[in-house]
Amino acid sequence: MVETQVWRVDPDAPDLEHAPQIIAAAEKLAQGEIVAFPTETVYGLGGNAKLQDSVRKIYEAKGRPSDNPLIVHVATLEQVRDICTEIHPIAQKLIDTFWPGPLTLVLPSRGEVSNAVTAGLSTVAVRMPSHPVARALILASNLPIAAPSANRSGRPSPTRADHVFHDLDGSIAGILDGGETGVGVESTVVDCTTTPITILRPGGISKEQLIEAVGAVAEDPGLTRSDQAPKAPGMKYKHYAPEATMYLVPAGKDRISELIAFEKNNDRRIGVLTTEENRDSYPEADVVLVCGRRSEPETVAHNLFDVLRHFDQKKVDAIYSETFSEDGIGKAIMNRLSKAAGGRVIE
Ligand code: AMP
Ligand code: MG
Repeated sequence: MVETQVWRVDPDAPDLEHAPQIIAAAEKLAQGEIVAFPTETVYGLGGNAKLQDSVRKIYEAKGRPSDNPLIVHVATLEQVRDICTEIHPIAQKLIDTFWPGPLTLVLPSRGEVSNAVTAGLSTVAVRMPSHPVARALILASNLPIAAPSANRSGRPSPTRADHVFHDLDGSIAGILDGGETGVGVESTVVDCTTTPITILRPGGISKEQLIEAVGAVAEDPGLTRSDQAPKAPGMKYKHYAPEATMYLVPAGKDRISELIAFEKNNDRRIGVLTTEENRDSYPEADVVLVCGRRSEPETVAHNLFDVLRHFDQKKVDAIYSETFSEDGIGKAIMNRLSKAAGGRVIE
């Protein structure tokens, strides 16, 4: 057990890089400890990407399988050049268009980061976050920071400091609490070593946005086909799961109401994950949680993980969830929902 310090920090404060909370967290990183910090996607659990010992601590605290590589967070292009051998013109175009922001690039590794970060692969995943606290921490520590989401492996990703505290209190040195994160789902991971580039994980930057920037974009077939392993090792794992068994119901409201009626005969406590538009449609359910407005899918992405964690507190036996269009950010929302449901869909 270690004592987990919590440093509150206002993301809008001036000169964050020199704020005492950031300096304290950066000192922990310099000592090889690991700390959680907010990014614009979700909270990350950071350690020195060049130090095997720190990276091991990240895997250990999360209970993360060691074959699932980590994303390295940087604040400058110089840091990218230090850890990658080559930034070709398409990768450069993505950097110019989307960084800092929720896009991760898989690039050829120079072997500068620990083997534990890349899980032995010849490539490394790199991202430049836009969140002021994340940027300040990277600059103050002057380190490339390896950081997966700051949750126990398999749980919904954390979008608030108390989510991190719930999962990792006692196993990490500290948490920078900068309030709620913005996007709410993780970064899009793009493999830049293929022609055309390949989406390995849908996320905060949509396929449509990528196509607009660089033209051709492929999608890893392993993302949707069960007979093919995904190219991002992490995509094969169970993830984001609430404690109750969750089911996706594409047919929507009426079908969900039928299912609730059936479950009520069996005396089970039923939760429904819905949207503002449908909040009054399930009077029979025990718990109805709204994750956002269907007409504004960004609000759904923003609240999704918080709502999934909320169901645990409500102690429901089963969750029935509405589904969403896969346009834009909808693809990332449906990817996370489908994993949270362990692939269970009721036709
Ligand atoms: P997380 O750190 O939980 O946000 O997950 C990062 C995702 O990026 C996981 O699905 C990893 O498997 C994937 N990833 C990280 N590095 C690489 C890499 N070098 N090649 C392919 N996928 C990667
Ligand atoms: Mg994660």
